[in-house]
Amino acid sequence: MISRDQICKTGKLLKRYGKACPMPDKIQRILIANRGEIACRIIRTCQQLGIETVAVCSTVDRYARHTRLADAFECVGGPSPAASYLNAEAILQAACKHKADAIHPGYGFLAENADFAQACIDAGLIFIGAPVAAMRLMASKSAAKQTMEAAGVACVPGYHGDNQEAAFLRQQAEKIGWPVLIKASAGGGGKGMKIVPDAAHFDEALNAAKSEARKAFGDDRVILEKFITHPRHIEVQVFSDRQGNHLHLFERDCSAQRRYQKIIEEAPAAGLAADTRQAMLEAAVRAAGAVGYEGAGTVEFILDRDQRFYFLEMNTRLQVEHRVTELITGTDLVAWQIRVAEGQPLPVTQDDVHARGHAIEARIYAEDAENDFLPSVGLLDRLQFPTEVPGRVLVDTGVRQSDRISIHYDPMIAKLVVWGEDRDQAIDVMNEALCQTLVSGVKTNLASLTTLINHPRFRDNCLYTNAIDQGLLDEHPDNLESLARFLAAIIHWQLHHDTERTGQGEQPEQSTPVPWQPFGPDWQRLSLRQGDERIDVEWQIADETLTLRPVTPGTGNALSDAAALCETEIFPPVRFPWPLPWSAQVHETPEAYHVILGHQRRVLEKIRHDSGPAAGGNEGQVVAPMPGQILNILVAPGEPVKKDQTVAVMEAMKMELSLKAPRDACVETVHHSVGDLLQAGDVVLSFAAGDTEKGGEASSTDGVSA
Ligand code: ADP
Ligand code: ADP
Ligand code: MG
Repeated sequence: MISRDQICKTGKLLKRYGKACPMPDKIQRILIANRGEIACRIIRTCQQLGIETVAVCSTVDRYARHTRLADAFECVGGPSPAASYLNAEAILQAACKHKADAIHPGYGFLAENADFAQACIDAGLIFIGAPVAAMRLMASKSAAKQTMEAAGVACVPGYHGDNQEAAFLRQQAEKIGWPVLIKASAGGGGKGMKIVPDAAHFDEALNAAKSEARKAFGDDRVILEKFITHPRHIEVQVFSDRQGNHLHLFERDCSAQRRYQKIIEEAPAAGLAADTRQAMLEAAVRAAGAVGYEGAGTVEFILDRDQRFYFLEMNTRLQVEHRVTELITGTDLVAWQIRVAEGQPLPVTQDDVHARGHAIEARIYAEDAENDFLPSVGLLDRLQFPTEVPGRVLVDTGVRQSDRISIHYDPMIAKLVVWGEDRDQAIDVMNEALCQTLVSGVKTNLASLTTLINHPRFRDNCLYTNAIDQGLLDEHPDNLESLARFLAAIIHWQLHHDTERTGQGEQPEQSTPVPWQPFGPDWQRLSLRQGDERIDVEWQIADETLTLRPVTPGTGNALSDAAALCETEIFPPVRFPWPLPWSAQVHETPEAYHVILGHQRRVLEKIRHDSGPAAGGNEGQVVAPMPGQILNILVAPGEPVKKDQTVAVMEAMKMELSLKAPRDACVETVHHSVGDLLQAGDVVLSFAAGDTEKGGEASSTDGVSA
């Protein structure tokens, strides 16, 4: 990334060369230094306000939705964030070239970079964000906590001083009491956080946290906090203007997280005692006042089981989840940001801010729930969202059908945001919105989102931040009983669908092939895939009954025999009345059936008969499952390896993934070395022929958060 000196120099240079004009009082053209949904969302408000927009993009984003929506765009560099969206110099030059008078940084990237904000100001541009001093202060979790304590805002008990000696920190941790949380002082995005259960694990965790912090933020200072068990994450939206007015727009509950990252957010927080809420809102406004804040900010708190709350950090920017606040308060926070950046006072006072109803946001990510939530990259061959209804259903997205989710950026595909009269109604609207959403081409968390919002713990509002990481959504082992309902839905849909098409006179050859083949005079054999698992069942319809039974072993079909062997004894046949007395929603894509049944959602993939049982893998080699960079190669040519032994480690989309041997084998060739950039499917290493023994997939991966 560009250095602080360089950023500052660019700002001053541009001013010196007279490109910049004096600060305007009315913003007419905004450059958006971001991409994806947030860039599109900002453009939307600008269009409503009659403000022109300039997008920036990387070379892979030339045709991205945000560049197309803006009035003008400038390509500022290569695909890696450092080359483009973090390239302050190129962005400032684009702003001058396009005669923008302000820069909106969105969230992430340069949004909380005080040097960039200063460089904007030096170049004569308005930075639509927090004051530089407040940004600098809040960038350090330790400085932030010191300021908050001075302002009388309670912080999580802990140590946030300058002494960074291991022995001293261990002593402090003892004093705080186990478990203790180590956090990177410069941290964000959950990086560099380690829970330490007891003294014996402290030194190791400290080293790991420091090394992660150094890698992610170039600063290895840490703070210690008491680890609050079963907490809720509640944050307050604040807004301030240059005239010194500070107000809040109520709170958001962001307790639905995985790996310290939010996935569902709502406003207001349900079940919060009125006096606790009031105290929290007041503390947040006091926090904003204490740092002379301007613009949109979020004060994050953690709430323990006794409804005691503690300051966590202040985010000096617009948050991903600001939409739920907009829906309950009827505001447009981007419009407010622009107004305040122009130097105008806030449009309302605290007494005029009212909350109505309940709003929920769900973040749809391209990720593989069955593979430890690893990001999933690929082409979005089908993309369907619910229709937007102003004030009730919003869809914020930065992609369109046929776009690609790439390795370079955050894998968020869209945010669904809904409003209801109360929480139950909002959950219902969200269910409906999720049903109307279809994403194919990449794996998504849609099924987890559906499960989550219908989970009794979510419905009853007793979710705490680590519940999902502790296995809340982990499925019970599948049985034919529950799977059969989904298969029945596919059979029903396929038969109905085919009848409809034949009725319309379509040629049968043109219809998509059914996923089954005749088996004997009365039965059909249905074969599909769910994740890594192959599913083979036989079905028949007779006497107004649909019967599904597991494939009988020894029927001569080598493919299904293997799959059936282990499963036959467990599953008796399952019967449903025919036609089915219940209905399901089925979306068919060329690769799969997306089935929504009640509050469950599954993707059942079609099996390509031409590709045989080893489809998707070759046991003679280990291939990169996704694009990324090789971090480590753990074996050498000639070395014997065991099935599932880690042979190499890759880094992709900020995650580390272990590549494993598909079987016992002997390494013949290592095709790449540490540092190499790979495409998905590139062969990392190959095994000597001859020692083959039937095994699993070509390469399995497991992810650990980086
Ligand atoms: P929110 O509370 O709005 O979800 P997050 O802290 O999760 O905010 O960050 C919002 C966005 O900024 C995410 O896309 C995240 O990946 C990115 N982000 C946050 N902190 C950092 C950081 N220190 N470095 C790079 N990206 C970050
Ligand atoms: P970041 O800058 O990465 O957003 P935060 O300090 O905001 O870091 O913490 C992120 C999340 O980690 C919180 O939302 C919460 O789920 C969890 N967390 C943070 N501090 C604590 C704590 N002291 N005890 C328990 N959980 C915590
Ligand atoms: Mg945070």
